[in-house]
Amino acid sequence: MSLEKALTDLRRALGPHNVITDPADLLCYSYDATADVPTQRPDVVVTPESTAHVVQVVKIARQYRLPIYPRGSGTNLSGGTIPLRGGIVLATVKMNRILEIDPANLTATVQPGVIIQDLNNAVAPYGLLYPPDPGTVATATMGGSVAECSGGLRGLKYGVTRHYVMGLEVVLASGEVIRCGGKTVKNVTGYDLVRLFTGSEGTLGIITEITVRLIPAPQARETMLAGFARLADAGNTVTEIIQRKVIPATLEIMDRVTVEVVENYAHIGLPTDVAALLLIEVDGIPEVVKYEAETVREIIKKNNGWVKTAENEAARENLLAARRAALPALAQRKPTTILEDATVPRSKITEMLLALEEIGKKYDLLIGTFGHAGDGNLHPTILADARDEDEMRRVRAAVEEIFRVALSLGGTLSGEHGIGMAKMRFLPWEMGASGVNVLRQIKKALDPENILNPGKMVDLAQEEEQK
Ligand SMILES: Cc1cc2nc3c(=O)[nH]c(=O)nc-3n(C[C@H](O)[C@H](O)[C@H](O)COP(=O)(O)OP(=O)(O)OC[C@H]3O[C@@H](n4cnc5c(N)ncnc54)[C@H](O)[C@@H]3O)c2cc1C
Repeated sequence: MSLEKALTDLRRALGPHNVITDPADLLCYSYDATADVPTQRPDVVVTPESTAHVVQVVKIARQYRLPIYPRGSGTNLSGGTIPLRGGIVLATVKMNRILEIDPANLTATVQPGVIIQDLNNAVAPYGLLYPPDPGTVATATMGGSVAECSGGLRGLKYGVTRHYVMGLEVVLASGEVIRCGGKTVKNVTGYDLVRLFTGSEGTLGIITEITVRLIPAPQARETMLAGFARLADAGNTVTEIIQRKVIPATLEIMDRVTVEVVENYAHIGLPTDVAALLLIEVDGIPEVVKYEAETVREIIKKNNGWVKTAENEAARENLLAARRAALPALAQRKPTTILEDATVPRSKITEMLLALEEIGKKYDLLIGTFGHAGDGNLHPTILADARDEDEMRRVRAAVEEIFRVALSLGGTLSGEHGIGMAKMRFLPWEMGASGVNVLRQIKKALDPENILNPGKMVDLAQEEEQK
C-alpha cells in the first residue's frame, strides 16, 4: 500500500523517531484552537530537524500524492492546522533554535519552531525587543505567527508580524529552497516575496528560517486600567485617545461579560460593576510617557470613566495576564467559544461595539467582547454549545452578520487570525470574485499540485471536482 511505502521512505529520510503513527498520538493533531470546524486525524506526523529534512518530506509527499499540513503549536483560530484530507502533519517542534542575535543590525534569525517569548527572553539582555505579542506569546511559534501574520497586544503602536519579518528561507511545494529578503533595511529586489509568504497560512511554502527586525526596548512605561459604566464611553475614549495623537503600545477592551468571567477565573480584583474596562499602556522615553499618560487620564475622565495606574511590575503583569486570560476564561460559561476577529477602522469602534450588543440580542446569544480596541480589532466571542443544533444555527447567522457589519463599516473579515478553513466562503464579500481569483492564481503558480495545506484560504481541489 502506498501509505506504508511513504512511511518507510519518511522513516528512512528522517529517522524513525521523527515519524509518528500511533493513533492516540495522531488524535492530538486532529484539531487546533478553533471551534465549530471539523476535526480530522492525519495519517502521519513528522518532526523534521532541519531544512534538508523538510525538503525530503516534500519530495516524499509529492511522490505519494500526500498533502502536507505545516503546524507550529496549533493555537490558530481559523482551522489553519487541521489536516482536512489526512496525509502528513509537519510539526516544527524540533526546529527550535535561535540561530543568531545580531545587535549591530538589530536582527535575530530563528528556526520556525522557536516560541515567541523565548526569542524575547533571549534578546532582552541586549536591550532589544521583538514587538509582535499575540495572547499566546508563551506557546505560539515564530513559524506559525509569521505564516498567520499574527498581531497581538502591542499592534497599535508597533504593528503586526509582517512589519518585523525581513528575510525568510522557504521550502516550496516543488522541493526547492528559496531565500528572500535578508538583513538589509532596504530591499526592493524583485516582487516582495517576504510579504507574500508572511500570512500565507502554510498554503504557499514551508518556512524554515526567519530573520526578524528588533527594536530598542522602551525605557519607561505606564500601565492603566480604566472602567466605564457605558460601553459607548469606552469606545469613544479609544477613538479620542488616537484623535489626540497619543498612540499607546496597548489599548485593549474587555466588556462586562468578559470582565466577570476573567475575574472569576483569575481572582485579581478586577471590578465587575462596569460595562467595559480598558487596559492602556504607553511606553517610550520617560518625559513622553508622562505626557501621554496624563493625556490618557484626562480623556478617560472626560468620557465619564475612572482610572487606576499599575504601581509596580507585578501589578502590570497581573493586568496583562487578565487580558490574556480572556478567551480561556470565557470557556467557563459554555463549552464552545466561537471567536471572531472582524476588524473596523478605529473611528468606527463604538459603532461596532454597539452593533455586537444588538447582534447578541437579535440571535439570543451570549457574546463576550474583548480585543485590541486601539486597532479596531475586536474579538466578539460567542458562547455556545456545539451539541445544541438550534443554537449553532443562530451562531452561524450571527457570525455572518458580524462580518457584514464590519465590512459595511469599511472593515475586514480578519485582523489577525487569518482565513484558514473557517472564513473561506466569506472571502468574495471582501475581495470580490476577481480578487479571490488572484489568490487562486498565486496558489496555482506556487503549489500546482495542491499539496500544501489544501482546503485552506482557497480550495483548488473543489475547483477540480467542479470541472
Ligand atoms: C487564547 C488565544 C489567544 C490568542 N491571541 C492572539 C492575539 O492576540 N493575536 C493574534 O494574532 N493571534 C492570537 N491567537 C492566535 C494564534 O495564537 C496565533 O496566530 C499564533 O501566532 C499561531 O502560532 P502557532 O505556532 O500556534 O501556529 P499554528 O496554529 O500551528 O499555525 C498557524 C498557521 O501557520 C501555518 N504554519 C505553521 N508553521 C508554519 C511554517 N513553518 N511554515 C509555513 N506555515 C506554517 C499553519 O499551517 C497554520 O495555517 C490566539 C489564540 C489563542 C488560542
